[in-house]
Amino acid sequence: MLRRFGMPPRKRVSQTLMRVLLKHGGVVKEFASGQQVVREIADELGLNERQRSACLETVYRKEGRLKKSLLWHRLLFRAADALARHGLASRPTRTARLTEQREWMLTEKGLDEALGLCGIPAEKKESLPLRSYEVQRIASTLARSARAEDYDPFDRGKNTVVRQEKSTLRGRGFRQAVIDAYDCRCAICGLKIRSPDALSWEVEAAHIVPSGLLGKDDLCNGIALCRLHHWAFDVGWLTLLDSYRVQVSPRVDGLPPTWGRIGGYECIRALAGNPGRIRLPYREEIYPHPNAMRWHRENVFYGRDR
Ligand SMILES: [Zn+2]
Repeated sequence: MLRRFGMPPRKRVSQTLMRVLLKHGGVVKEFASGQQVVREIADELGLNERQRSACLETVYRKEGRLKKSLLWHRLLFRAADALARHGLASRPTRTARLTEQREWMLTEKGLDEALGLCGIPAEKKESLPLRSYEVQRIASTLARSARAEDYDPFDRGKNTVVRQEKSTLRGRGFRQAVIDAYDCRCAICGLKIRSPDALSWEVEAAHIVPSGLLGKDDLCNGIALCRLHHWAFDVGWLTLLDSYRVQVSPRVDGLPPTWGRIGGYECIRALAGNPGRIRLPYREEIYPHPNAMRWHRENVFYGRDR
């Protein structure tokens, strides 16, 4: 049947599926609800109309029923199933346990293989906005984590070598969790914008206690900030009060009046005295922790006494 219609071999379908998954940031909707993706894969494979519409007929003798399904869809499901069996992708039912979305998602192993298929060096994985099942699992665990009253924002006692080995996956999980928790917006100014290919968000996952000083990779020590406010937060122009309001350094008054402006918008000065809280996640347990914010006020921020 496959040969009669000149259908591509399953391996080629699997490889095409992996490339399309990579193009979509490592994740696509399950095929039944994502017809656009199904069309995209068919286009990549160069299927003609005859191949796309060829039907497979299955006779259910007991029920006396004849079921028709598209041959091409069957081939795609089998290819996706093979990826899951080889540990290269997670099935929609499994992914849904983490994200409540029924999606095919590449695993780390699948991601490495897909990067190879696309000729992208493996080192680039860290800087690309890609999801993998393992990264998503860390992000989902972080998003559900409980909050301790005596929270310590430092990863004390971990030696640097162990930290470095674990850090890449954990760091990607942290980024994912923070950006998801803040709905891809800057907590301070609300900016939300993504790249034209829809893969990456402008917003960054900032550590309150920096990771270079062994600050923890978790949501109590994280906040989503646009690049500008991330920089201003890291160098001490801004800090957060326990009421989740922004405090601006008094040193801003010493700046030339034309500095820190984009058109009429004062990037830092405009935040001074703002009575409103920053934009926070949907769950209080994952708000920035007062212990991390206090450390930032005392060690990074340029207040009156510094
Ligand atoms: Zn911002």
